[in-house]
Amino acid sequence: MPEQLLWAERAWVGGGWRERVLLAIGPDGRWLTVAPGTPCPEHAARLPGPALPGLINAHSHAFQRAFVGLAERRDSAHDDFWSWRDRMYGVALRITPAQLRSIAAHLYAELLQGGYTQVCEFHYLQHDGDGRRYDDPATMCWALADAAADAGIGLTLLPVLYERAGFTLPALRDDQRRFATTAADVLALQRQVNDARRPLVDSGVAIHSLRAAHPESLAAVAAGAGDHPVHVHVAEQTAEVDDCLRSTGCRPIEWLARHAGLDARWQLVHATHSTSDEIAAVAAGGAGVVICPGTEANLGDGLADLPGWLQAGVPLSIGSDSQVIRAWPEELRWLEYGQRLALRQRNVAAAPGLEGASAARLFERALVGGAAAAGQRRWGLEPGARADLLVVDLDEPALVGVPASHWLDAVVFAAPARPFARVMVAGSWIQTSLEQTRPGFRGAMAQLWAEPGQR
Ligand SMILES: [Zn+2]
Repeated sequence: MPEQLLWAERAWVGGGWRERVLLAIGPDGRWLTVAPGTPCPEHAARLPGPALPGLINAHSHAFQRAFVGLAERRDSAHDDFWSWRDRMYGVALRITPAQLRSIAAHLYAELLQGGYTQVCEFHYLQHDGDGRRYDDPATMCWALADAAADAGIGLTLLPVLYERAGFTLPALRDDQRRFATTAADVLALQRQVNDARRPLVDSGVAIHSLRAAHPESLAAVAAGAGDHPVHVHVAEQTAEVDDCLRSTGCRPIEWLARHAGLDARWQLVHATHSTSDEIAAVAAGGAGVVICPGTEANLGDGLADLPGWLQAGVPLSIGSDSQVIRAWPEELRWLEYGQRLALRQRNVAAAPGLEGASAARLFERALVGGAAAAGQRRWGLEPGARADLLVVDLDEPALVGVPASHWLDAVVFAAPARPFARVMVAGSWIQTSLEQTRPGFRGAMAQLWAEPGQR
């Protein structure tokens, strides 16, 4: 790829809007230079709106896109995370590699439109519908990598350790048969993905949860991961916290802090139920937390202690998880709104004197935290980072007339439908449209939901 020059009237550099920014893309698809205060050279391409860096979606289960909108009815007296999960397993048991690719490609195209340029797949759907290993054990990994290439998004693939159905249950349930992995399986899959060296594909590892993994396997996976990211679902549900306390004498985050050797590779997904001691322990280890506000609201999980995590300086990122929300502006809006509703205050995320804008503080934190979650050493509009960017569409009705100083606030809180006019990944403009991925998605959905008795 030849070196190219872009020029933006305004771009988000170093935590705020800077004017007249010249951006040079190197032959490796990374930023060569980022120079604010530079007049537009004649040979530079002038961007049609302000430029933001792409954000990282730090937690995704792509196959759950096939389930969005189909679990919003109550058919018994009780409906919570666990009843949702039983229904979600119905989809998980019958999706084929080809269907997964079609569904994920459409999801990834939607995520690009929603301002994400890299997605971390917490991937536990490994085997065929009968629980048998595919001839190539990485078949479902390749379905996701192919989907990411179809859409043009970057991917951090995290094969998941999944060994048992609960703290005191020795094995998986029959309806979890597609997930079964040992520590050796997870490390082999991670190496296979890593060694394939596909463009825009990185790898790490994941542990489904403390309830689903033996402590010695968790340790083996973390040790074998080298400097790749290590993700774990941690304290999404109070029932899970209670189970962990009964079985181990510790709360989940407390257990990890005491026994797992938390460091900057670790990403605690759904650190929803935490104590101040647990927050301090995570901060001391340098681990990050991943919050998924849309999914956590949809599943009735509870609210993370956002002020506590922010105050402690813990790296923080966001994820689309079950895919009910597929755009980061809406995800950040709900991250802040949950706190406003619970605390009856406004601008909870803001830090007056330091950063007075809620949107800017959350965006900047998610930018930095997301990079750690995806195993990216550099991220954003800075030399050495991948040349990803979003061009904000100032003709979007919700943004018209907003002063430049408040553009990000309006992107997050004025609820624009399509805030981004163009999206760039690794120096190339994304060409894939939803029109291209929609037929495959529609076909896969028709197959998945046509089977008798499966609804
Ligand atoms: Zn998850």
